[in-house]
Amino acid sequence: MEGRDTKRDEILRTLFESKRLEAYAEYRTRDMHVCFLCERIFYKKPMKKIGNKWICMDCMRQLRDAIMSFDVWEKEAELEAEIRKKMDEELGV
Ligand SMILES: [Zn+2]
Repeated sequence: MEGRDTKRDEILRTLFESKRLEAYAEYRTRDMHVCFLCERIFYKKPMKKIGNKWICMDCMRQLRDAIMSFDVWEKEAELEAEIRKKMDEELGV
C-alpha cells in the first residue's frame, strides 16, 4: 500500500513539475522577443517595438547611424546618377 502511495506521489510530483515548467516557459516567452533585423532572440533586454516587430539595441543603433547619414548617402547617389547620365550623354548611348 505504501509503495503505491509513493508511486502516486511520484507521478503527481512529475505532473506538477511539468506543469510548473510549462507555466515558467510561458512566462518567459512573454519577455522574449526576436529581433526582426538580426533575428537574435533576446530575453528581457531593452528592445523597441516598431509596428508589430521588435528590434534590438544593436540594430537600432545601426539603423540610427544609417538614418543620420542618409542625407549624405542620398547626395552621393544623386551625384553618381548625374555623373552616369553625363557619361552616357558624352558616349552617346
Ligand atoms: Zn537586432
